This record gives sequence, structure tokens and C-alpha cells, in this order.
Amino acid sequence: MNLPARLFGWASAAVVLLSFASGSQAAPVSSSVAKLEQDGKLKMAGRSLRCGNARNVLDVRLPSEGAAAPGVLIINPRLIARMPNTVRLFVFYHECGHHRVGASELRADSWAVERGVAEGWLNEAGLKQVCRSFGNAPATPTHPSARSRCQNLERVYARAVARKLPLPKRKPAAQTARSNGTPAPALVSGPQLIGTGNVAVREGQMAPAYRLGRKPSVR
Ligand SMILES: [Zn+2]
Repeated sequence: MNLPARLFGWASAAVVLLSFASGSQAAPVSSSVAKLEQDGKLKMAGRSLRCGNARNVLDVRLPSEGAAAPGVLIINPRLIARMPNTVRLFVFYHECGHHRVGASELRADSWAVERGVAEGWLNEAGLKQVCRSFGNAPATPTHPSARSRCQNLERVYARAVARKLPLPKRKPAAQTARSNGTPAPALVSGPQLIGTGNVAVREGQMAPAYRLGRKPSVR
């Protein structure tokens, strides 16, 4: 993939949107890969997708696979058709991420990864496909380099997977010791007042705190 800006940021997407909104109405796009359903959901990669209240739009003139602009999420069905299913979903969720977290590309990527792990459509192989789809793109005014995006993807993926793993069961310390065959440490003697320095401690003259409990032994 050598498109200069594979996934459009908020500002550039708004420009694209303006240009297509003011142009002649595009013929309805029909594609077996990405289809708009009656209720406005986008049927793609075996899923029915919607991003909050954003309207799904298909446009073959979009110069990238996907774009987000206020109120809309745009997919180019021709370009997205070249991608494996996981990357198609990632593009959709990346653009949806812009609706949630704003213009930051890395944060939109992170949001998509979190969703992918939570919803079960992103695994390690899929993550590699996503990373490959960035090509070796250098940083541009709108997007970080492929390398830094991939590093971010991997970091967020590892974190999201770790969070999803079931927590190890915890046993109380005494129970753990017993199950190991090792007795729990016994309390050998109660706390003792070791020294009193220059303060004379006599029966009836103790500080109120001492008077309450058992009398401390004084050595
Ligand atoms: Zn983006």
C-alpha cells in the first residue's frame, strides 16, 4: 500500500466529504464486500457495523479505504475489497475510533485494537495483517510512520489481551500454607513492651491507651 494517507484523519476527511457532498450524487455503490443494509448498518467481513450515530457512507471516490468526518463514516468499497477481513474491520473501527477519541491516529488505532480484542475479531495473525497493510509508510503530516503505528498496535494489543485473561484465583494466606503442607506461621508471643526509657510505668499510672487492653509485660 503506497497511498500517501491510507487512513484519513479528521481534518482531511472533512475536506474529502465536502468535495463529495458538493459534487453530483454518486450512483449507489453496490459491492459484495461492503454493503449498506436497510437500517443503515454496514455489512462487511460477516458483521453488521454501526458507529454510534455516525451515518455509514460508501464512496468509491474516497482516496483511502476509510475516512471519518463529523456525523459520517466513509468506506471505499473498492479499496477495502483488497484487504483481508480483519483489516476491513480494523479500518472501520479505526474510523469509528476517530468519532470516539478525536483526530489522533494512534489513539484511533488503539481504540480499534481494544474493540477487536473485546469483540474477538482481532488475534495476533490479524494484528500482523493490519500492520502489513500500513506498508513501510514514513511519517506524513497527517499520519505517524507505519513503524510507530505498529509498535503502538502491539503494545495496546498485549495490554488488552492481558486484561481479558481470567485473574488467578487467590486463597487466603493460611489456606495456601495448609494446602502446601506447610503450617502457617504461628504467633509465638504477643507484642511486648521492650523498654520504657525514662518513663516509669506503674500500675494505675499507665497512659489511657494501655489501660484498655491487657496489661503489657514490662521487662
Ligand atoms: Zn485515521
